[in-house]
Amino acid sequence: MQRTSKLLHIGDHSRDIAGLTYVYPVVSRRAGGVSIGINLNPNNACNWRCVYCQVPDLKRGSAPQLDLVTLEAELRTFLHEIVHGDFMQTHVIPEARRINDIALSGNGEPTSAREFAQVIELIGRVKADYNLPKNLKLVLITNGSLVNRPGVQAGVSAMAELNGEVWFKLDSVTREGRQRINNTRMSLMRMRENLRLATRLCPTWLQTCVFQINGMAPPVVESDAYLSFLESFLNEGEKLKGVLLYGLARPSMQPEAPRLTKVDQVWMETFSARIQALGVEVRLNP
Ligand code: SF4
Repeated sequence: MQRTSKLLHIGDHSRDIAGLTYVYPVVSRRAGGVSIGINLNPNNACNWRCVYCQVPDLKRGSAPQLDLVTLEAELRTFLHEIVHGDFMQTHVIPEARRINDIALSGNGEPTSAREFAQVIELIGRVKADYNLPKNLKLVLITNGSLVNRPGVQAGVSAMAELNGEVWFKLDSVTREGRQRINNTRMSLMRMRENLRLATRLCPTWLQTCVFQINGMAPPVVESDAYLSFLESFLNEGEKLKGVLLYGLARPSMQPEAPRLTKVDQVWMETFSARIQALGVEVRLNP
């Protein structure tokens, strides 16, 4: 899940400032701070192909073999720069000079990295060596499709000890919808089981993107199915932190881009209210 899509920040996406392979800063005026992004997919590869994906030259595939020595060196360099150097003064407007989180997010699906659990261990180890805010979050922005892998579960479970949060993509609960939006054939049963696994291992938000295709807002059948899914998931006693509800914040880099437009504010707010009526917190990022 690439940072630009997954965090959907409006702001200065200054990946080039650091010029590193895996680590990059995202300065967000709206969130009022700096996120330390970790991109495990420098090869722009994802196992899905969402029509709104903002990764340029996206290709199907997995993260490449990671160079953990380089990743650790980059993370240390960057944290040193933020904590002891002049990064904030040089690159960040005064009102955003704080660290918001460390986020596993990049140009593809981060959990497709074989070394995913080792990466979490590495982050925990490095983080402990710096004087960082106690409540600094570690966010995993994921399409959730690989949570059934034991290595991913080990990493997600370790995240819970590091003030972790999983942002689990859920754009549609119908087979057609997931095929149309995410270009995946993953079954609803697999998605539900993976969501269940994630929520039990680490606090989890759903991350849902809504938009118009060819000028048409999501069909009623889609939004009704989404709400029924949520209701039944919660009725089974599963816990969710809430729903991050996004519109199209930045342009898609996929061939479908010309067909995609934002849903209007009223649609977003109505849908948000229906989710909240289920007792679920919604954070709206139109
Ligand atoms: S899950 Fe979708 S939005 Fe995220 S990187 Fe893959 S294709 Fe892009």
